[in-house]
Order: sequence, then C-alpha cells, then structure tokens
Amino acid sequence: MLNIYGDLHIHIGTAAGQAVKITASRNLDLRTVVFQDAPGKGLDMVGIVDAGTLPVTYEIEQMILSGEIRELQQGGFLARNGVLLIAACELESLEGVHWIIFLPYLKSLKEYQRFIRSRVHNMQLSTQRIRIKARELVNLSCILDGILCPAHAFTPHKGAYGVWVERLAAVMEQDLQQIRAIELGLSADTDMADTIEETRRFTFLSNSDAHSSANIGREYNLFRMGDKNFEEFRYCVENSQGRRITANYGMDPQLGKYHRSYCPACSTIASDEPPVLECRKCGSDKLIIGVHDRIALIKDRDQPYHPVGRPPYYYRVPLKQLPGVGPQMHKKLLTYFENEINVMEKVPVEDIARIAGEDIAAMIIKMRKSRLQIIPGGGGHYGKVKKNSH
Ligand SMILES: [Zn+2]
Ligand SMILES: [Zn+2]
Repeated sequence: MLNIYGDLHIHIGTAAGQAVKITASRNLDLRTVVFQDAPGKGLDMVGIVDAGTLPVTYEIEQMILSGEIRELQQGGFLARNGVLLIAACELESLEGVHWIIFLPYLKSLKEYQRFIRSRVHNMQLSTQRIRIKARELVNLSCILDGILCPAHAFTPHKGAYGVWVERLAAVMEQDLQQIRAIELGLSADTDMADTIEETRRFTFLSNSDAHSSANIGREYNLFRMGDKNFEEFRYCVENSQGRRITANYGMDPQLGKYHRSYCPACSTIASDEPPVLECRKCGSDKLIIGVHDRIALIKDRDQPYHPVGRPPYYYRVPLKQLPGVGPQMHKKLLTYFENEINVMEKVPVEDIARIAGEDIAAMIIKMRKSRLQIIPGGGGHYGKVKKNSH
C-alpha cells in the first residue's frame, strides 16, 4: 500500500494563454502546479477543479502529447515527476451551491463539455453556474463515471449545508446514495461535521481551494492506495478494498475566513455563544452566517459522534504562516528537507531544531499536536496564529 498526500481542490489562473478563474492568480497554471508547487509542498496527488474548462482541457491534451503526463488505464494522469493529476470540475447548480465532479479520463472531460455547452455562459471560465439542478448533477456524474461531492459544504459562500439545506437527504432522497464524500471547507473540521447525524455516511475531504500557489496544500488528505490512479482514489472515497483516507489535515477552523458570523453593516465578527444570527452590536439581521454558527443551528447533537473508521483530523497551517518562518527560513527548510510536508509531518524535530533553531522546532511540535493558538477569523478575513504560540 502507498501513503499518498493529496489536495484535490486547486484552481487554475491561466491556461493556453487565457484567464480561467478570474479570482485566481495569473501565474497559477497547470504545469506550475504539477511540476513546482506539488513537489515543493510534498503532494503526491493534485485535483484540478478547472479541468473541464476548454483552455485547461486543451493543456491536458498538450501535456499528454508532449509526454509530460500520461493518461492511465485506471483513470487519472501520471506526470513524469510521479505526481498524480486528478481532473475535476467545480460548478454551481441552480440552487446556488458549489459541487465538484472528479472525472477519470480525457474522454469524460469531453463528454462533460458536450453536456454543459448549452447550459453555461462561458466554457472558458471555471465554477460556472450551470442550468441544472443538484439531482440532475447526480445523474450526470453517474453517466460520466465521476465522483460527485458538495464543495466547501458548510460555508455561507455556496456551501450545500451553508446556504441551501439542513439535511441533504431531505432534498436528494435516494440520489444521496450516489454521494459518497463531502468537502469540509477551511472553516470546518471533522468534529464540527460529525455533530450532524447524516454526515456519518460521507467520507470527509480536506482540500485547499487554492487560488494561488501559496495556498496549495493548506489542507490535504492522506490516502492509503494500492497504486496511483483514479480507481484507487475512488476506492478511498468509497472506503472499499482496504483503501481509505487515513488522516485529514487542515487549518484550525478558527483560521477560516467564514468561521464566525460577520456583520457587514458594522464590521463586527461575532464572539458570543453560537449560533449568532443577528448582530448584537448594531442589531442588523443581515449577517454572513459563520460556519460555526450555521452548524450550531442545524446540528443534531452537542458532541461529535464519529462513525467507526473516521480518520483523525490534524490542525495545520502552511509553513510560511508560522510565526518566525520568513521567506529565507522557508527556503532553508526546503533546501534541507525537500518539501513542506516532510517538515510538517515526517522529519524528526531534532533535525528541524538543528537547521531552524529551537523556537521554530517548538512551533512544529506544537503544530503536529494540533495545539497552536489561534486568533479567529470571520467575514472574509482569515484568522492568525498567535505569535507567542509556543
Ligand atoms: Zn467553490
Ligand atoms: Zn473552488
């Protein structure tokens, strides 16, 4: 069995000379993700959620032709440097909810495009609103042999539980059987999600939703796979054949920009006992409901109740966000230890202390134990790691 670190929600800024995701960094392109960012982070597998746009599909084809990547019989694309590329499409259904469909082959991407052509405004751009309902997306995903998953499920920004429903079963009925995973999003963790009974059935994915190179791998998953290909990834999502996700790694939910409710009228981030649904300062009821507040509102129980086999969730922050790790130190750590995940998960702390000093080593120990102290975020602003956190 292989231990594979994967981040399966990465956007592309430009492909084939064209803008793909307007809000993403222009220099975020497919080759950079696969050949620089993934190895620098220590990721063995990356999911590109704009793979279904015309320019990105075109680049995938070009990279196959040039031999930079090859399409695998069991699905997925293996790059020359050993990174597994998983193609995916993030889109918005008529309900105003974001979904990801992971797709195995180039031909599935083409079929996807044929289907959406008459139902979106712009085939060049990512995360397009598609004129079909969530339940029809389930059918689409089945036909394409894809894996469908609600993206950042709890956020007030287009999350299924965040803005649409309290229970997916109520609206999806038997189609829910086809949904095997949800993406937790940056402001939620396993403990929070497992206060809702219905999430027992789902595998949890912790992905970065990166719009820039710096954010790639701010959340990731550890997969136990027999080989690097799409089919093995599917087994993990389905928890079958002895394949599974063995750990989730992500930001402390307090670091997420939608953690607590936020009042745009008076710029206050709620700090009272959740759920906060009205601003206690100015009285406005037009809050952006925080993930913590939303879950407090819709949960079934106060304490999380984990199904057997639920993997642990470890809190992590990108190395560069650790107090004391400036650009120089970051470079030094990577020179010695090759990539970030090595530093964060694998290298003995004594070795880190020798290269980076006791303070940073202490910070890494604290992070590995999920014990960094956090200043919470909200209303679109990220939280921060406290400076004197060690
Ligand atoms: Zn999204
Ligand atoms: Zn996204």
